[in-house]
Amino acid sequence: MKNESIWLEDKIKTNHNKLEKNLETDILIIGGGITGISCAYHLIDSNLKVTLVEANELGSGVTSKTTGKLTFLQEDIYSKITNTSSEVNAKLYYQAQKHAISLVKEIISKNKINCDLEPSPSYLFTNSNDKIPSLKKIKNLLESYSEKVTIKKNFNLADIPCKYALAVSDCYVFHPLKYLNGLVNLIKNKISIYEYTRITCIKKQSNYFICKTKNHSIKTKKIILALHYPYFLIPYLFPFKVNLEKSYISVTTEKNKNNFNAINLDEETISIRYHKNKNNNYKLYLHPSRNICIHTNDLENFQKNQSISAELKYRWSNIDIITNDYLPYIGEIEDNLYLATGYNTWGMTNGSLAGEIISDLILNRNNQYSDLFNPKRSLKLTKLPSIIGSSIKGYKEGITKNFQTNKNITYNELDGRKIATYQDEKGIKHSVYLKCPHLKCNLIFNEVEKTWDCPCHGSRFNIDGKCLEGPSNYDISVDQTFDNVNHL
Ligand SMILES: Cc1cc2nc3c(=O)[nH]c(=O)nc-3n(C[C@H](O)[C@H](O)[C@H](O)COP(=O)(O)OP(=O)(O)OC[C@H]3O[C@@H](n4cnc5c(N)ncnc54)[C@H](O)[C@@H]3O)c2cc1C
Repeated sequence: MKNESIWLEDKIKTNHNKLEKNLETDILIIGGGITGISCAYHLIDSNLKVTLVEANELGSGVTSKTTGKLTFLQEDIYSKITNTSSEVNAKLYYQAQKHAISLVKEIISKNKINCDLEPSPSYLFTNSNDKIPSLKKIKNLLESYSEKVTIKKNFNLADIPCKYALAVSDCYVFHPLKYLNGLVNLIKNKISIYEYTRITCIKKQSNYFICKTKNHSIKTKKIILALHYPYFLIPYLFPFKVNLEKSYISVTTEKNKNNFNAINLDEETISIRYHKNKNNNYKLYLHPSRNICIHTNDLENFQKNQSISAELKYRWSNIDIITNDYLPYIGEIEDNLYLATGYNTWGMTNGSLAGEIISDLILNRNNQYSDLFNPKRSLKLTKLPSIIGSSIKGYKEGITKNFQTNKNITYNELDGRKIATYQDEKGIKHSVYLKCPHLKCNLIFNEVEKTWDCPCHGSRFNIDGKCLEGPSNYDISVDQTFDNVNHL
Protein backbone atom coordinates (compact mmCIF):
# COMPACT_ATOMS: atom_id res chain seq x y z
CA MET A 1 0.00 0.00 0.00
CA LYS A 2 1.18 3.52 -0.79
CA ASN A 3 0.53 6.33 1.66
CA GLU A 4 0.10 8.89 -1.12
CA SER A 5 -2.43 9.89 -3.73
CA ILE A 6 -3.16 7.57 -6.65
CA TRP A 7 -2.96 10.57 -9.03
CA LEU A 8 0.74 11.04 -8.26
CA GLU A 9 1.43 7.94 -10.39
CA ASP A 10 0.94 10.35 -13.33
CA LYS A 11 2.68 13.53 -12.24
CA ILE A 12 2.84 16.62 -14.46
CA LYS A 13 5.89 16.38 -16.71
CA THR A 14 8.08 19.51 -16.89
CA ASN A 15 11.76 20.48 -16.85
CA HIS A 16 11.35 21.73 -13.26
CA ASN A 17 12.96 25.11 -14.07
CA LYS A 18 13.70 27.17 -10.94
CA LEU A 19 13.80 30.97 -10.92
CA GLU A 20 17.49 31.83 -11.17
CA LYS A 21 17.29 35.59 -11.91
CA ASN A 22 15.24 38.72 -11.18
CA LEU A 23 12.50 39.36 -13.70
CA GLU A 24 9.66 41.64 -14.76
CA THR A 25 6.27 40.48 -15.92
CA ASP A 26 2.75 41.81 -16.56
CA ILE A 27 0.93 39.11 -14.59
CA LEU A 28 2.38 36.86 -11.89
CA ILE A 29 0.33 33.77 -11.03
CA ILE A 30 1.37 32.36 -7.65
CA GLY A 31 0.43 28.68 -7.34
CA GLY A 32 0.37 25.84 -9.86
CA GLY A 33 -2.74 23.85 -8.92
CA ILE A 34 -5.97 23.70 -10.93
CA THR A 35 -6.62 27.39 -10.15
CA GLY A 36 -3.26 28.80 -11.23
CA ILE A 37 -2.92 26.60 -14.31
CA SER A 38 -6.52 27.36 -15.42
CA CYS A 39 -5.82 31.10 -15.05
CA ALA A 40 -2.68 30.70 -17.16
CA TYR A 41 -4.59 28.75 -19.83
CA HIS A 42 -7.17 31.53 -20.23
CA LEU A 43 -4.46 34.21 -20.47
CA ILE A 44 -2.16 32.66 -23.08
CA ASP A 45 -3.62 34.63 -25.99
CA SER A 46 -3.79 37.94 -24.12
CA ASN A 47 -0.53 39.48 -25.43
CA LEU A 48 0.44 40.02 -21.81
CA LYS A 49 3.62 38.61 -20.32
CA VAL A 50 2.44 35.92 -17.92
CA THR A 51 4.65 34.16 -15.36
CA LEU A 52 3.59 31.29 -13.08
CA VAL A 53 5.55 30.30 -9.99
CA GLU A 54 4.99 27.20 -7.91
CA ALA A 55 6.63 26.56 -4.53
CA ASN A 56 6.98 22.81 -5.13
CA GLU A 57 6.07 20.92 -8.34
CA LEU A 58 3.13 21.85 -10.55
CA GLY A 59 -0.01 20.06 -9.39
CA SER A 60 1.56 18.84 -6.15
CA GLY A 61 -0.83 20.72 -3.82
CA VAL A 62 -4.43 19.96 -2.89
CA THR A 63 -5.25 19.27 -6.56
CA SER A 64 -3.11 16.13 -6.47
CA LYS A 65 -5.21 14.78 -3.58
CA THR A 66 -8.74 15.42 -4.76
CA THR A 67 -11.30 12.76 -5.71
CA GLY A 68 -11.63 14.40 -9.13
CA LYS A 69 -15.40 14.53 -9.59
CA LEU A 70 -16.87 17.14 -11.91
CA THR A 71 -20.34 17.39 -10.47
CA PHE A 72 -22.97 19.96 -9.63
CA LEU A 73 -24.65 17.67 -7.06
CA GLN A 74 -22.60 19.08 -4.20
CA GLU A 75 -24.23 17.85 -0.99
CA ASP A 76 -26.77 20.41 0.27
CA ILE A 77 -24.90 23.44 -1.08
CA TYR A 78 -27.96 24.95 -2.81
CA SER A 79 -29.97 24.87 0.45
CA LYS A 80 -27.00 26.34 2.33
CA ILE A 81 -26.47 29.19 -0.13
CA THR A 82 -30.22 29.88 -0.08
CA ASN A 83 -29.94 30.26 3.72
CA THR A 84 -26.69 32.23 3.93
CA SER A 85 -27.16 34.35 0.80
CA SER A 86 -30.33 34.15 -1.32
CA GLU A 87 -32.38 31.90 -3.60
CA VAL A 88 -31.16 33.89 -6.58
CA ASN A 89 -27.53 33.29 -5.68
CA ALA A 90 -28.13 29.58 -5.08
CA LYS A 91 -29.52 29.30 -8.61
CA LEU A 92 -26.65 31.34 -10.04
CA TYR A 93 -24.18 29.06 -8.23
CA TYR A 94 -25.89 26.05 -9.83
CA GLN A 95 -25.59 27.68 -13.27
CA ALA A 96 -21.93 28.43 -12.59
CA GLN A 97 -21.25 24.76 -11.77
CA LYS A 98 -23.03 23.57 -14.92
CA HIS A 99 -21.05 26.11 -16.92
CA ALA A 100 -17.78 24.94 -15.33
CA ILE A 101 -18.50 21.33 -16.29
CA SER A 102 -19.15 22.36 -19.93
CA LEU A 103 -16.03 24.54 -19.91
CA VAL A 104 -13.76 21.69 -18.78
CA LYS A 105 -15.37 19.28 -21.27
CA GLU A 106 -14.88 21.80 -24.08
CA ILE A 107 -11.22 22.42 -23.19
CA ILE A 108 -10.59 18.66 -23.08
CA SER A 109 -12.29 17.99 -26.39
CA LYS A 110 -10.88 21.05 -28.24
CA ASN A 111 -7.33 20.25 -27.18
CA LYS A 112 -7.67 16.45 -27.24
CA ILE A 113 -6.47 16.12 -23.64
CA ASN A 114 -6.25 12.51 -22.56
CA CYS A 115 -7.34 12.67 -18.91
CA ASP A 116 -9.70 9.71 -18.48
CA LEU A 117 -12.78 11.94 -18.60
CA GLU A 118 -15.95 9.89 -18.52
CA PRO A 119 -19.64 10.44 -17.77
CA SER A 120 -20.53 9.41 -14.23
CA PRO A 121 -24.04 9.98 -12.87
CA SER A 122 -23.94 11.61 -9.42
CA TYR A 123 -25.94 10.33 -6.45
CA LEU A 124 -26.76 12.19 -3.26
CA PHE A 125 -28.07 9.72 -0.72
CA THR A 126 -29.01 9.06 2.87
CA ASN A 127 -29.59 6.05 5.01
CA SER A 128 -31.27 8.09 7.72
CA ASN A 129 -34.99 8.90 7.77
CA ASP A 130 -34.18 12.29 9.33
CA LYS A 131 -32.33 13.44 6.23
CA ILE A 132 -35.02 12.54 3.70
CA PRO A 133 -36.81 15.94 4.01
CA SER A 134 -33.49 17.73 3.26
CA LEU A 135 -33.00 15.59 0.18
CA LYS A 136 -36.54 16.35 -0.95
CA LYS A 137 -35.82 20.05 -0.54
CA ILE A 138 -32.70 19.75 -2.71
CA LYS A 139 -34.72 17.86 -5.32
CA ASN A 140 -37.28 20.67 -5.40
CA LEU A 141 -34.59 23.31 -5.73
CA LEU A 142 -32.88 21.46 -8.59
CA GLU A 143 -36.20 20.92 -10.37
CA SER A 144 -36.98 24.62 -10.00
CA TYR A 145 -33.72 25.18 -11.93
CA SER A 146 -35.15 22.82 -14.64
CA GLU A 147 -32.71 20.01 -13.76
CA LYS A 148 -33.95 16.44 -14.22
CA VAL A 149 -33.67 14.53 -10.94
CA THR A 150 -34.40 10.83 -10.46
CA ILE A 151 -35.40 9.41 -7.07
CA LYS A 152 -34.44 5.96 -5.84
CA LYS A 153 -35.62 4.42 -2.58
CA ASN A 154 -34.45 1.54 -0.40
CA PHE A 155 -31.68 0.07 -2.51
CA ASN A 156 -27.96 -0.69 -2.32
CA LEU A 157 -25.64 1.74 -4.06
CA ALA A 158 -22.80 -0.72 -4.75
CA ASP A 159 -22.50 -2.07 -1.19
CA ILE A 160 -23.90 1.00 0.61
CA PRO A 161 -27.48 0.77 1.90
CA CYS A 162 -29.60 3.81 0.93
CA LYS A 163 -33.06 4.74 2.12
CA TYR A 164 -33.43 7.61 -0.33
CA ALA A 165 -31.25 9.00 -3.12
CA LEU A 166 -31.28 11.66 -5.80
CA ALA A 167 -29.53 10.93 -9.08
CA VAL A 168 -28.54 13.37 -11.83
CA SER A 169 -26.67 13.01 -15.11
CA ASP A 170 -24.31 15.42 -16.93
CA CYS A 171 -21.63 14.81 -14.31
CA TYR A 172 -18.15 13.39 -14.93
CA VAL A 173 -14.99 12.03 -13.35
CA PHE A 174 -11.47 12.58 -14.62
CA HIS A 175 -7.80 12.27 -13.71
CA PRO A 176 -6.95 15.70 -12.29
CA LEU A 177 -3.21 15.57 -12.93
CA LYS A 178 -3.55 14.24 -16.48
CA TYR A 179 -5.92 17.16 -17.11
CA LEU A 180 -3.41 19.67 -15.71
CA ASN A 181 -0.60 18.00 -17.67
CA GLY A 182 -2.66 18.59 -20.84
CA LEU A 183 -3.10 22.27 -19.94
CA VAL A 184 0.60 22.64 -19.10
CA ASN A 185 1.52 21.27 -22.55
CA LEU A 186 -0.64 24.00 -24.09
CA ILE A 187 0.79 26.88 -22.03
CA LYS A 188 4.42 25.97 -21.46
CA ASN A 189 5.78 27.66 -24.61
CA LYS A 190 3.63 30.77 -24.20
CA ILE A 191 4.25 31.74 -20.58
CA SER A 192 7.19 31.43 -18.17
CA ILE A 193 6.83 28.70 -15.54
CA TYR A 194 9.10 28.28 -12.53
CA GLU A 195 8.83 25.39 -10.08
CA TYR A 196 10.51 25.14 -6.67
CA THR A 197 10.06 28.91 -6.51
CA ARG A 198 8.26 30.11 -3.41
CA ILE A 199 7.10 33.70 -3.04
CA THR A 200 7.88 34.70 0.52
CA CYS A 201 6.88 38.33 0.52
CA ILE A 202 4.79 40.73 -1.55
CA LYS A 203 5.35 44.49 -1.37
CA LYS A 204 3.15 47.01 -3.11
CA GLN A 205 4.95 49.93 -4.75
CA SER A 206 3.13 52.76 -6.59
CA ASN A 207 1.63 50.89 -9.56
CA TYR A 208 3.38 47.55 -9.37
CA PHE A 209 4.25 44.79 -6.91
CA ILE A 210 7.61 43.35 -5.90
CA CYS A 211 7.42 39.66 -5.05
CA LYS A 212 10.42 38.15 -3.32
CA THR A 213 11.68 34.59 -3.45
CA LYS A 214 14.60 33.40 -1.31
CA ASN A 215 17.24 34.85 -3.66
CA HIS A 216 15.42 36.82 -6.34
CA SER A 217 12.55 39.20 -6.98
CA ILE A 218 9.80 39.55 -9.55
CA LYS A 219 8.37 42.95 -10.50
CA THR A 220 4.80 42.61 -11.75
CA LYS A 221 1.83 44.79 -12.63
CA LYS A 222 -0.78 42.25 -11.54
CA ILE A 223 -0.83 39.26 -9.20
CA ILE A 224 -3.13 36.25 -9.10
CA LEU A 225 -3.02 34.48 -5.72
CA ALA A 226 -3.83 30.87 -6.63
CA LEU A 227 -2.23 29.36 -3.56
CA HIS A 228 -5.20 27.62 -1.95
CA TYR A 229 -4.93 29.52 1.36
CA PRO A 230 -4.28 33.23 0.61
CA TYR A 231 -2.07 33.90 3.61
CA PHE A 232 -0.59 37.07 2.16
CA LEU A 233 -3.92 38.78 2.84
CA ILE A 234 -3.84 39.47 6.57
CA PRO A 235 -5.80 42.77 6.34
CA TYR A 236 -8.73 40.95 4.77
CA LEU A 237 -9.35 38.72 7.82
CA PHE A 238 -9.42 35.46 5.86
CA PRO A 239 -8.94 33.24 8.94
CA PHE A 240 -12.29 34.61 10.15
CA LYS A 241 -14.04 33.89 6.86
CA VAL A 242 -13.08 30.25 6.43
CA ASN A 243 -12.83 26.90 8.26
CA LEU A 244 -10.50 24.06 7.42
CA GLU A 245 -11.62 20.45 7.07
CA LYS A 246 -9.44 17.41 6.64
CA SER A 247 -10.69 14.40 4.69
CA TYR A 248 -9.26 10.91 4.37
CA ILE A 249 -9.27 8.89 1.17
CA SER A 250 -8.69 5.14 0.83
CA VAL A 251 -8.36 3.27 -2.46
CA THR A 252 -9.08 -0.41 -3.04
CA THR A 253 -9.23 -2.50 -6.20
CA GLU A 254 -12.55 -3.77 -7.58
CA LYS A 255 -13.25 -6.68 -9.87
CA ASN A 256 -15.63 -4.71 -12.03
CA LYS A 257 -15.76 -0.99 -12.55
CA ASN A 258 -18.89 0.92 -11.55
CA ASN A 259 -19.61 4.12 -13.39
CA PHE A 260 -21.28 6.37 -10.83
CA ASN A 261 -20.09 8.72 -8.13
CA ALA A 262 -21.87 9.40 -4.85
CA ILE A 263 -21.87 11.42 -1.67
CA ASN A 264 -24.19 11.17 1.32
CA LEU A 265 -25.95 13.75 3.45
CA ASP A 266 -25.61 11.94 6.78
CA GLU A 267 -23.74 13.24 9.85
CA GLU A 268 -20.57 11.49 8.73
CA THR A 269 -19.91 12.39 5.11
CA ILE A 270 -18.71 9.62 2.82
CA SER A 271 -18.04 9.97 -0.86
CA ILE A 272 -17.07 7.47 -3.56
CA ARG A 273 -15.96 7.37 -7.15
CA TYR A 274 -14.39 4.75 -9.41
CA HIS A 275 -11.30 4.93 -11.56
CA LYS A 276 -9.71 2.59 -14.08
CA ASN A 277 -6.11 2.62 -15.23
CA LYS A 278 -4.18 0.14 -17.35
CA ASN A 279 -3.61 -2.16 -14.36
CA ASN A 280 -6.79 -2.13 -12.30
CA ASN A 281 -10.28 -0.94 -11.47
CA TYR A 282 -10.18 1.21 -8.36
CA LYS A 283 -12.71 2.46 -5.85
CA LEU A 284 -11.89 5.76 -4.11
CA TYR A 285 -13.60 6.06 -0.77
CA LEU A 286 -13.61 9.29 1.23
CA HIS A 287 -14.01 8.88 4.99
CA PRO A 288 -15.81 11.39 7.17
CA SER A 289 -14.14 14.82 7.26
CA ARG A 290 -12.66 16.09 10.51
CA ASN A 291 -12.09 19.51 11.99
CA ILE A 292 -8.29 19.81 11.94
CA CYS A 293 -7.96 21.29 15.45
CA ILE A 294 -9.97 18.67 17.29
CA HIS A 295 -9.41 15.32 15.58
CA THR A 296 -5.65 15.26 15.26
CA ASN A 297 -4.97 11.51 15.33
CA ASP A 298 -4.69 10.71 11.63
CA LEU A 299 -4.12 6.98 12.09
CA GLU A 300 -7.34 6.78 14.12
CA ASN A 301 -9.20 8.89 11.54
CA PHE A 302 -8.06 6.60 8.72
CA GLN A 303 -9.11 3.54 10.71
CA LYS A 304 -12.59 4.99 11.39
CA ASN A 305 -13.82 3.43 8.21
CA GLN A 306 -14.60 -0.09 9.39
CA SER A 307 -16.53 -0.97 6.26
CA ILE A 308 -13.46 -1.36 4.05
CA SER A 309 -12.49 -5.01 4.12
CA ALA A 310 -10.57 -5.15 0.82
CA GLU A 311 -6.82 -4.62 0.74
CA LEU A 312 -5.88 -0.94 0.60
CA LYS A 313 -3.75 0.18 -2.35
CA TYR A 314 -3.41 3.91 -1.61
CA ARG A 315 -4.46 6.24 1.18
CA TRP A 316 -3.93 9.93 1.84
CA SER A 317 -5.48 12.92 3.55
CA ASN A 318 -6.27 16.38 2.27
CA ILE A 319 -7.44 19.71 3.65
CA ASP A 320 -9.86 22.05 1.95
CA ILE A 321 -11.28 25.46 2.78
CA ILE A 322 -14.91 26.00 3.71
CA THR A 323 -16.24 29.57 3.50
CA ASN A 324 -18.80 30.82 5.97
CA ASP A 325 -21.39 31.56 3.25
CA TYR A 326 -20.51 28.46 1.15
CA LEU A 327 -19.57 30.61 -1.86
CA PRO A 328 -15.97 30.70 -3.12
CA TYR A 329 -13.91 33.90 -3.13
CA ILE A 330 -12.87 34.59 -6.71
CA GLY A 331 -11.97 38.02 -8.08
CA GLU A 332 -10.13 41.27 -7.47
CA ILE A 333 -9.51 41.99 -3.79
CA GLU A 334 -7.69 45.26 -4.39
CA ASP A 335 -6.38 47.03 -7.48
CA ASN A 336 -4.48 44.53 -9.63
CA LEU A 337 -4.49 41.85 -6.93
CA TYR A 338 -6.73 38.85 -7.66
CA LEU A 339 -7.42 35.73 -5.65
CA ALA A 340 -9.33 32.47 -5.89
CA THR A 341 -9.95 30.27 -2.88
CA GLY A 342 -12.63 28.75 -0.62
CA TYR A 343 -14.09 26.11 -2.90
CA ASN A 344 -15.87 24.20 -0.11
CA THR A 345 -14.33 20.95 -1.45
CA TRP A 346 -15.58 21.60 -4.99
CA GLY A 347 -12.44 22.96 -6.62
CA MET A 348 -12.48 20.99 -9.87
CA THR A 349 -15.43 23.08 -11.02
CA ASN A 350 -14.70 26.26 -9.06
CA GLY A 351 -10.93 26.25 -9.76
CA SER A 352 -11.71 25.91 -13.48
CA LEU A 353 -14.26 28.74 -13.23
CA ALA A 354 -11.69 30.90 -11.43
CA GLY A 355 -9.44 30.70 -14.49
CA GLU A 356 -12.18 32.10 -16.68
CA ILE A 357 -13.49 34.71 -14.22
CA ILE A 358 -10.08 36.17 -13.33
CA SER A 359 -8.89 36.29 -16.93
CA ASP A 360 -12.17 38.03 -17.90
CA LEU A 361 -11.66 40.60 -15.12
CA ILE A 362 -8.06 41.23 -16.19
CA LEU A 363 -9.01 41.56 -19.87
CA ASN A 364 -12.07 43.74 -19.09
CA ARG A 365 -14.57 41.18 -20.37
CA ASN A 366 -17.96 40.66 -18.76
CA ASN A 367 -18.43 37.57 -16.68
CA GLN A 368 -21.86 36.69 -15.37
CA TYR A 369 -20.48 34.98 -12.24
CA SER A 370 -17.93 37.59 -11.10
CA ASP A 371 -20.38 39.40 -8.78
CA LEU A 372 -21.49 36.15 -7.13
CA PHE A 373 -17.94 35.24 -6.11
CA ASN A 374 -16.74 38.80 -5.40
CA PRO A 375 -14.13 38.42 -2.63
CA LYS A 376 -14.94 41.89 -1.30
CA ARG A 377 -18.45 40.86 -0.26
CA SER A 378 -19.01 41.56 3.39
CA LEU A 379 -18.87 38.99 6.15
CA LYS A 380 -22.29 38.42 7.69
CA LEU A 381 -22.12 40.15 11.07
CA THR A 382 -24.54 37.72 12.68
CA LYS A 383 -22.04 34.89 12.13
CA LEU A 384 -18.97 36.86 13.19
CA PRO A 385 -18.97 36.05 16.95
CA SER A 386 -19.18 32.30 16.36
CA ILE A 387 -16.54 32.41 13.62
CA ILE A 388 -14.14 34.40 15.82
CA GLY A 389 -14.95 32.09 18.76
CA SER A 390 -14.14 28.93 16.84
CA SER A 391 -10.98 30.46 15.28
CA ILE A 392 -9.66 31.47 18.71
CA LYS A 393 -10.60 28.10 20.21
CA GLY A 394 -8.78 26.26 17.41
CA TYR A 395 -5.71 28.46 17.78
CA LYS A 396 -5.67 28.04 21.57
CA GLU A 397 -5.88 24.26 21.21
CA GLY A 398 -3.03 24.36 18.71
CA ILE A 399 -0.61 26.37 20.80
CA THR A 400 -1.32 24.49 24.00
CA LYS A 401 -1.44 20.99 22.49
CA ASN A 402 0.98 18.61 24.22
CA PHE A 403 3.74 17.04 22.22
CA GLN A 404 2.75 13.54 21.15
CA THR A 405 4.32 10.47 22.62
CA ASN A 406 5.54 8.27 19.82
CA LYS A 407 8.23 5.61 20.14
CA ASN A 408 9.98 6.85 17.01
CA ILE A 409 10.09 10.52 18.00
CA THR A 410 12.46 12.21 20.46
CA TYR A 411 12.24 15.83 21.55
CA ASN A 412 15.16 18.18 22.21
CA GLU A 413 15.98 21.85 22.27
CA LEU A 414 18.27 23.73 19.89
CA ASP A 415 19.09 27.36 20.62
CA GLY A 416 16.04 27.58 22.88
CA ARG A 417 13.69 26.12 20.27
CA LYS A 418 11.98 22.71 20.52
CA ILE A 419 12.98 20.21 17.87
CA ALA A 420 11.59 16.75 17.13
CA THR A 421 13.60 13.91 15.62
CA TYR A 422 11.81 11.08 13.86
CA GLN A 423 13.73 7.86 13.31
CA ASP A 424 12.47 5.99 10.23
CA GLU A 425 12.40 2.21 9.58
CA LYS A 426 15.97 2.33 8.20
CA GLY A 427 17.21 4.09 11.33
CA ILE A 428 17.69 7.43 9.53
CA LYS A 429 16.95 10.45 11.73
CA HIS A 430 14.90 13.42 10.46
CA SER A 431 14.85 16.57 12.62
CA VAL A 432 12.47 19.50 12.40
CA TYR A 433 11.53 22.53 14.46
CA LEU A 434 8.28 21.76 16.22
CA LYS A 435 6.46 25.08 15.90
CA CYS A 436 4.64 26.07 12.74
CA PRO A 437 6.35 29.19 11.30
CA HIS A 438 2.92 30.65 10.51
CA LEU A 439 1.58 31.38 14.02
CA LYS A 440 3.70 29.11 16.19
CA CYS A 441 1.24 26.28 16.84
CA ASN A 442 2.71 22.95 17.95
CA LEU A 443 2.85 20.56 14.99
CA ILE A 444 1.35 17.06 15.09
CA PHE A 445 3.03 14.07 13.46
CA ASN A 446 0.83 12.36 10.87
CA GLU A 447 1.92 8.72 11.22
CA VAL A 448 0.26 7.60 8.02
CA GLU A 449 1.72 10.05 5.52
CA LYS A 450 4.81 10.87 7.62
CA THR A 451 4.13 14.58 7.57
CA TRP A 452 4.11 17.25 10.30
CA ASP A 453 0.68 18.89 10.23
CA CYS A 454 -0.45 22.13 11.87
CA PRO A 455 -3.70 21.68 13.84
CA CYS A 456 -4.47 25.43 13.71
CA HIS A 457 -4.38 26.46 10.06
CA GLY A 458 -3.51 23.31 8.12
CA SER A 459 0.12 23.84 7.05
CA ARG A 460 1.88 20.58 6.23
CA PHE A 461 5.60 19.73 6.13
CA ASN A 462 7.39 16.61 4.95
CA ILE A 463 9.48 14.49 7.23
CA ASP A 464 12.55 16.67 6.62
CA GLY A 465 10.62 19.87 7.28
CA LYS A 466 9.94 21.03 3.71
CA CYS A 467 6.72 23.03 3.55
CA LEU A 468 4.17 21.14 1.42
CA GLU A 469 1.09 23.25 2.04
CA GLY A 470 0.49 26.72 3.50
CA PRO A 471 -0.39 28.97 5.22
CA SER A 472 3.18 28.55 6.42
CA ASN A 473 5.52 30.04 3.89
CA TYR A 474 8.65 28.59 5.42
CA ASP A 475 10.26 25.19 5.98
CA ILE A 476 10.92 23.77 9.46
CA SER A 477 14.15 21.91 8.66
CA VAL A 478 16.61 22.41 11.51
CA ASP A 479 19.17 24.02 9.23
CA GLN A 480 16.60 26.69 8.23
CA THR A 481 16.04 30.01 9.88
CA PHE A 482 12.71 31.70 9.54
CA ASP A 483 11.26 35.04 10.43
CA ASN A 484 7.64 36.02 10.43
CA VAL A 485 5.97 35.95 7.03
CA ASN A 486 5.85 39.37 5.45
CA HIS A 487 2.28 40.27 4.71
CA LEU A 488 0.92 42.91 2.37
C1 LIG B 1 -10.52 15.12 0.17
C2 LIG B 1 -10.92 16.10 -0.89
C3 LIG B 1 -11.60 15.65 -2.01
C4 LIG B 1 -11.97 16.56 -3.00
N1 LIG B 1 -12.68 16.11 -4.07
C5 LIG B 1 -13.13 16.99 -4.98
C6 LIG B 1 -13.93 16.55 -6.08
O1 LIG B 1 -14.23 15.37 -6.24
N2 LIG B 1 -14.39 17.49 -6.94
C7 LIG B 1 -14.10 18.81 -6.79
O2 LIG B 1 -14.61 19.63 -7.57
N3 LIG B 1 -13.28 19.25 -5.79
C8 LIG B 1 -12.79 18.37 -4.90
N4 LIG B 1 -12.00 18.80 -3.87
C9 LIG B 1 -11.55 20.20 -3.82
C10 LIG B 1 -10.36 20.47 -4.75
O3 LIG B 1 -9.46 19.38 -4.76
C11 LIG B 1 -9.59 21.72 -4.29
O4 LIG B 1 -10.51 22.74 -3.96
C12 LIG B 1 -8.68 22.23 -5.41
O5 LIG B 1 -7.81 21.20 -5.82
C13 LIG B 1 -7.87 23.44 -4.96
O6 LIG B 1 -7.04 23.81 -6.03
P1 LIG B 1 -6.06 25.05 -5.92
O7 LIG B 1 -5.38 25.20 -7.23
O8 LIG B 1 -6.81 26.22 -5.40
O9 LIG B 1 -5.03 24.64 -4.77
P2 LIG B 1 -3.71 23.73 -4.87
O10 LIG B 1 -3.88 22.58 -5.76
O11 LIG B 1 -3.28 23.46 -3.48
O12 LIG B 1 -2.67 24.71 -5.57
C14 LIG B 1 -2.06 25.78 -4.88
C15 LIG B 1 -0.57 25.74 -5.19
O13 LIG B 1 0.03 26.94 -4.70
C16 LIG B 1 1.35 26.62 -4.31
N5 LIG B 1 1.80 27.67 -3.39
C17 LIG B 1 1.34 27.93 -2.15
N6 LIG B 1 2.02 28.97 -1.62
C18 LIG B 1 2.91 29.38 -2.55
C19 LIG B 1 3.88 30.42 -2.58
N7 LIG B 1 4.07 31.25 -1.55
N8 LIG B 1 4.64 30.56 -3.70
C20 LIG B 1 4.46 29.72 -4.77
N9 LIG B 1 3.53 28.73 -4.78
C21 LIG B 1 2.78 28.56 -3.70
C22 LIG B 1 1.19 25.27 -3.63
O14 LIG B 1 2.43 24.58 -3.57
C23 LIG B 1 0.14 24.58 -4.50
O15 LIG B 1 0.72 23.73 -5.47
C24 LIG B 1 -11.63 17.92 -2.88
C25 LIG B 1 -10.94 18.37 -1.74
C26 LIG B 1 -10.61 17.48 -0.74
C27 LIG B 1 -9.93 17.99 0.49
